[in-house]
Amino acid sequence: MPRIPVTVLGATGVVGQRFVRHIAAHPVFELRFLAASERSAGRTYGEACDWRLPGDPFAGAGAMRVLPCDPGAALSPIVFSALDAGPAREIESAFAAAGALVFSNASAFRMEEDVPLLVPELNAAHLGLLALQRARRGWKGGIVCNPNCTTAVFVGAFGPLHRAFGAEAALAASMQALSGAGYPGVPSLDAASNVIPLIRGEEEKLEAESRKILGAFDGRAVVPAPFTVSAMCNRVPVVDGHTIAASMRLGGSPEPVDVVRALERFVPDTEGMGLHTAPQRFLQVRSEPDRPQPRLDVDADGGMRVQVGRVRRCPVLGVKMVVLGHNLERGAAGASVLNAELALARGCL
Ligand code: NAP
Repeated sequence: MPRIPVTVLGATGVVGQRFVRHIAAHPVFELRFLAASERSAGRTYGEACDWRLPGDPFAGAGAMRVLPCDPGAALSPIVFSALDAGPAREIESAFAAAGALVFSNASAFRMEEDVPLLVPELNAAHLGLLALQRARRGWKGGIVCNPNCTTAVFVGAFGPLHRAFGAEAALAASMQALSGAGYPGVPSLDAASNVIPLIRGEEEKLEAESRKILGAFDGRAVVPAPFTVSAMCNRVPVVDGHTIAASMRLGGSPEPVDVVRALERFVPDTEGMGLHTAPQRFLQVRSEPDRPQPRLDVDADGGMRVQVGRVRRCPVLGVKMVVLGHNLERGAAGASVLNAELALARGCL
């Protein structure tokens, strides 16, 4: 089967670099164009990019020329976007109108009612929104978003529990990695030995996106799930991996042992599809009393696994736990590549 050419927008950033590394090793996608801001356009990728990943520098793409984010210059059938939300709005819609299927990490389109906010293991049916989007906007291509990185980790545990019991409410306090702020990100003098109790816009994203992701698609729209989430988001001196301490009120007030069983028995929507970037195990419940920890556990399954630990009774809401996931893989590049694989398998291209 011929490989499918892809473009990476925002290729020089921390998420963009992971896209480039994924595609270099992908059996179906082939890197055709790299694009970034005017600061980088015209330079080689090796000159423009502060490569920050171990292994092969620039994933072998150091000699490629960085292009402007313009569909006239860099159009492919599949486009991965690691753009900031500001430029993403105009640039992603220009690529979608020109016929590309855009898989976006930016927040610009996530909450638009005709845009799938996809976590393939939890809401693969939401891809059905794409046909409505194309009809409504007159686009030949389209836009599919993945969630904010903290949301992607949180719903990895909360989604299966919502499916098993019906979730009513959750309190979620995040401890978010520095890489979540891009590169160079938070100044070292602010980050070292410190906790910063504000990540602008993050709490609102976690609260709203969770309801859309876990809502029901009725063939015309996604009806948001009826639970309430209260988020408290903090930046901590961890390099990669967002940890969330969460308390939940679930329908029927299940005991912790029943919650663990439901998490362990969860069957992802993607089971058996053989998607290249899908983790061997989407969700793992750790039995050790002091795990998961970002330094030890974040890279499990290429960073695509969500890990849960310390499931116990909560005297306020019923059950509480800790949840860990990789913000740049489960929460960004890996998630987007998986979205594209699902769309391809479903014939959306
Ligand atoms: P980053 O390291 O700051 O990279 C931003 C990228 O966008 C760079 O390639 C930059 O190119 C490009 N860019 C900036 N302004 C541009 C413009 N006006 N026109 C064209 N390109 C422009 O940020 P990041 O952390 O990779 O995040 C990228 C996106 O993913 C953001 O929307 C972010 O919210 C989202 N996201 C990030 C994470 C995470 O954990 N980091 C997780 C989920 C989602 P230059 O190098 O040329 O400036």
